[in-house]
Amino acid sequence: MDYTLEEKEAFMREALKEAELALEHDEIPIGCVIVKDGKIVGRGHNAREELQRAVMHAEIMAIENANLSEESWRLLDCTLFVTIEPCVMCSGAIGLARIPNVVYGAKNQKFGAAGSLYDILTDERLNHRVNVETGVLENECAEIMQDFFRNRRKK
Ligand SMILES: [Zn+2]
Repeated sequence: MDYTLEEKEAFMREALKEAELALEHDEIPIGCVIVKDGKIVGRGHNAREELQRAVMHAEIMAIENANLSEESWRLLDCTLFVTIEPCVMCSGAIGLARIPNVVYGAKNQKFGAAGSLYDILTDERLNHRVNVETGVLENECAEIMQDFFRNRRKK
């Protein structure tokens, strides 16, 4: 994936905008965009509460969105930007969609499956391996989560 740091931060800011949409529904603020040839082809945010769908994580919504806009289940040549490390389900979905590159902001020590708890995206036993980059706008991505949980505890 040959985007400059500046470009990666710009795409991560778009993912953060998606995370803010989740906040409107008092939802864990995670956002995602999928980029192809420098253009966003899919967007998504955590919408479990909004849609009452257990599997509607940011990455799943963005993959579905990109499948529609690309008219293909294969998202080759795409880079997925997500604010927080993908979970087990989403890491599996990234493989199923054949997405070759993933950039995430902050780690998720409790649920992360792209390096923290598991390492599904780079596991050599699986036939699809993904280039993973971490730490793009890490502080911003972590902060929006911390603020959310801090406010929720206050309620
Ligand atoms: Zn997930």
